[in-house]
Amino acid sequence: MVCNGVIILECLCVKVKKRSGESVRAVLFEQDLLDNSFRIAADGDYLYLPIKSTPDESLFTHPVSVEYHECEPQQSRPTLKDMLGYAPSFEIVGDIAIIDSDEPEAEKVARALLKFRPQLKAVLGEGPAIEGEFRVRPMRFIAGEKHTETIHKDHGCLYALDIAKVYFSPRLSTERQRIADQIGPDDVVVDMFAGVGPYSIPAAKRCRKVYAADKNPEAVKFLKKNVELNKLDNMEAMEADARDLPEILGQVADHVIMNLPHNASDFLKEAIALTKPGGVIHYYAMAHEDSLFGPSIDIIKKAATDAGRRVEVVETRTVRSYAPHQYNICIDARID
Ligand code: SAM
Repeated sequence: MVCNGVIILECLCVKVKKRSGESVRAVLFEQDLLDNSFRIAADGDYLYLPIKSTPDESLFTHPVSVEYHECEPQQSRPTLKDMLGYAPSFEIVGDIAIIDSDEPEAEKVARALLKFRPQLKAVLGEGPAIEGEFRVRPMRFIAGEKHTETIHKDHGCLYALDIAKVYFSPRLSTERQRIADQIGPDDVVVDMFAGVGPYSIPAAKRCRKVYAADKNPEAVKFLKKNVELNKLDNMEAMEADARDLPEILGQVADHVIMNLPHNASDFLKEAIALTKPGGVIHYYAMAHEDSLFGPSIDIIKKAATDAGRRVEVVETRTVRSYAPHQYNICIDARID
């Protein structure tokens, strides 16, 4: 049947009073019985929940019946690939999408993204390489509202940031969570290269104290804002050169986070000085696939020996591919 230009088909449904609809829908969802290819229909006091097969009525605490009813098929939403003929790569930071600046059809991709994901407000193009001490990605405006400041949500944490002024990558979410999972309630954490806080804030939600430092004043401005946004009272945001942290803080850390993959080796002396006996350094580096961990482990061992400390490698892992044959790696090393 076609009704006002919309196709309506008969399908098997659970009929339930509207006021009990949500709890019955939840049971059907849990049992994987909802037929999502149809929309839920309403008629008077009743809802009709499309189902794949007849459920056992003992599942429900509310009166239900099973019958055929007319429902509208769900429109399958076109994908970006349908719209463009190919799937462009992009990442999302808050309400901003970031695509490659050299994307051949940047404007067309940007328009499609804004249409396809209504929560997006702006599309930016990322330049070829992250450069400079503050690791800020060069950005150019492509479409939508002209802004670079946003709030990104991840694992229940909020990050205010300006993507044109600070480093931030949504791609490291799993890795950041993995570090947070190693941190205990009595621990003190020093995040030497904190950025806007994506390691520090999840850590602060589960430990005693976090010292989060960055040399970029813009990053620290957002770091402070993020302490407030996430309602934390155990995290100190500091504008500081990581070089000076041992002098400022002393040997305080159960965990030291060194997310400066291109230069972390230059700061190992300071990281070791910050680490209590038995504390763990989370050391990031870029490495060639032919020798992923060996060279970094040697560097860590030498720095520990120079400081009269011993080191035990707790875990090594590949975080993500960075360039052809190059990987971002992490080494968790206990310093005794
Ligand atoms: N940990 C953050 C994250 O995951 O988003 C930021 C990582 S980013 C790769 C490295 C950060 O280190 C940048 O925010 C940069 O400003 C900061 N940085 C670079 N050199 C520094 C130094 N000598 N002392 C403190 N921070 C520094």
